[in-house]
Amino acid sequence: MTRIDAKIQQAEKVAAQPPEPRTELAWRLQHVPNPDGDTGHGVVHRDSCRVKGGGQLDRKALDLALTMPDVTTCSICQPERGLDP
Ligand SMILES: [Zn+2]
Repeated sequence: MTRIDAKIQQAEKVAAQPPEPRTELAWRLQHVPNPDGDTGHGVVHRDSCRVKGGGQLDRKALDLALTMPDVTTCSICQPERGLDP
């Protein structure tokens, strides 16, 4: 019985933990080269986006990236939606 009690206690401990925050805390900046050989541009994705590639951004880096004229946001994952102003 002691083992079962320990298991229940463990389960209660897990259940008592706060849920995962809904807002994502990671994004990616993908570099997309232009076909005409220009320097290209950046596309910001949520980290969970199905479009792969790019380096990870934290919130601070995301804010900075979004201010850049050569950076756009992905139309699939729409990382700008749900952000705090
Ligand atoms: Zn995306």
